Amino acid sequence: MRGCTGLPRWLATVCVVACLSHSGSLHATEHKTVLILHSVGREFRPWNEYAKQIRTELDRQSPWPLDVGEHSLESARSGDSNPEPPFVRYLNALYAERVPDLIIAIGAPAAAFLRRHREHLFPKAPALLTAIDQRRLQYSGISQNDVLVVVKHDFRFLFESFLRISPDTKIVAVVNGNSPNELFWRNEIQQDLRPLEGRIDIRWYDNLSFQDMLKQTAHLPSHSAIFWHTMLVDAAGVAYEGDRALKNLYATANAPIFTHDDSFFGQEIVGGPMLSARMLSKQAGTAAVRMLDGEKPDSITIQPVGFAKPIYDWRELRRWGIGESGLPSDSEVYFREPTAWQKYRTQILVVCAVLLLQSVLISSLLFERRRRFNAELVSRQRSAELAHMNRFSMAGELTATIAHEINQPLGAMLANVETAEMMIKSPVPDLHEIGEILADIRRDDQRASDVIVRLRSLLKKAPFEPRQIDLNDVVRETVRFLSALSIAREVEMISLIAPTPLPVNGDFIQLQQVILNLIVNAMDAMSGMPSAERKVRVLTARDGDSADIFISDAGPGIPADKLKEVFEPFFTTKPHGMGMGLSIARTIVDAHGGRIVAENLAGRGATFRISLPLVELSN
Ligand code: ADP
Repeated sequence: MRGCTGLPRWLATVCVVACLSHSGSLHATEHKTVLILHSVGREFRPWNEYAKQIRTELDRQSPWPLDVGEHSLESARSGDSNPEPPFVRYLNALYAERVPDLIIAIGAPAAAFLRRHREHLFPKAPALLTAIDQRRLQYSGISQNDVLVVVKHDFRFLFESFLRISPDTKIVAVVNGNSPNELFWRNEIQQDLRPLEGRIDIRWYDNLSFQDMLKQTAHLPSHSAIFWHTMLVDAAGVAYEGDRALKNLYATANAPIFTHDDSFFGQEIVGGPMLSARMLSKQAGTAAVRMLDGEKPDSITIQPVGFAKPIYDWRELRRWGIGESGLPSDSEVYFREPTAWQKYRTQILVVCAVLLLQSVLISSLLFERRRRFNAELVSRQRSAELAHMNRFSMAGELTATIAHEINQPLGAMLANVETAEMMIKSPVPDLHEIGEILADIRRDDQRASDVIVRLRSLLKKAPFEPRQIDLNDVVRETVRFLSALSIAREVEMISLIAPTPLPVNGDFIQLQQVILNLIVNAMDAMSGMPSAERKVRVLTARDGDSADIFISDAGPGIPADKLKEVFEPFFTTKPHGMGMGLSIARTIVDAHGGRIVAENLAGRGATFRISLPLVELSN
């Protein structure tokens, strides 16, 4: 603050803020150059995976903008060292203006190259040697300016872990390339596996082209497995970048594949303990940032990275029949296919709920249907009983006329008998005349008996039995039945019957009861009128596909607001009426699938119209 003494207060503040913000942005503006050296090529697995993850880690941890260049030591494919000096010169030329702040060598060949040319390759720049097995350090020669992030391979442990989960394995085919680096590893693996030689047959294919290896691995005997190491360059000198080789092997091999590095894990590999690219890259990234920050390399010590906890691919375990119960307790299983329940839980629940709802609905509908059916049955029985009672009360009404109807033939019969007796007593009885008298007696007896039959059938308690009948017949019969009543009541009955039959499906007695009720009501309506005006018209007609009966009178009619109400049970305007006649009539017509309506005639009186569906006339 002393430097700002004497300045105005606001200028002093600006000065301080400017100083602070400058020191704060120091890290942000100063960028660092990193040179990454690949061992064989940028796209060879597993090293490309390490490079990718180290860069991710650097981006995540570095406070400085980074200028990262990646270069490949292609010569490591063959081990030819001739291209190395020009490559060193090329790198020097490329980085002349921006000397790397850090060199990262990925894999042992890159580390060895760096050591060989360190004097001419940015000797002051610190180097991070990573993805290198600790057993290769002897060949690499470490300087004080280097930091190591090494890995530890234990192939015997790896194989034994696989044999534990697949104890029947008798043969293990090792897929490994033919580059100098891969041949080094062939010897190392062989040495590691020596103790297992009595237990399993280990097959080596590194002197074959990869295509020939595919042929071998496609027809391995049963109880075989494949150990995938690397396939950088095969014996035919063909290099395999990316995941091409492993994918081809997976497509044709007839045995499970296991490996040492999880960069290969994710589709083709059964699994097991493996090096974790993520763990290694995290260590390497952290060390790199510390080195870029100026920490002395010899003060940075990183413990060798060993195999991570075993991981397995659920799909491959299933494919090769390897049970999960045999897996190490600390292992994790990946790519487990969710069960239908886990996958479609919501959908299944919704469908179940809908089904449940549907079944509840169906059962309640069925229950309701049954209830309705029962209720209908009961109601039909009740209406039949009611109709029957109504007919009884009607019979009471008709008693006088019935008595009159029977009396007439009985009187005639008595008169005829007396005449016949007198004729018999004559000396020469006229037998022909007597025969005619007897015929008259028989006819009168028939008449009386017909009245009784009609009455009996009206009073019969019969269930609703529809059959094909001619509506004209029902009307004729009913009018005849009521003729005596009409005489007694001094009502003129005019019937106009349609000339052609009106076939309907119905119960004769019940329809007769309806007409009877309506005619008696018509007579009742006109009871206070002079006898000359008392007229009931009964008319039948065909209207399209329905048969109609009109029963009209010349009475006072029905108040307009009561035209519907008259059909309600117990509606009556008569002192001794029950109010059931029209209600029963409507029930009967409804049961026949028809309609009954009341209307007032234009001049005077009411008319009732019954419409019933016509049916095809059957013989
Ligand atoms: P009830 O004859 O016992 O009264 P109904 O159900 O047969 O029972 O008739 C109900 C009512 O309808 C009658 O009381 C009467 O008021 C009215 N009604 C029926 N027919 C006629 C008609 N032809 N003219 C005027 N009113 C009628």
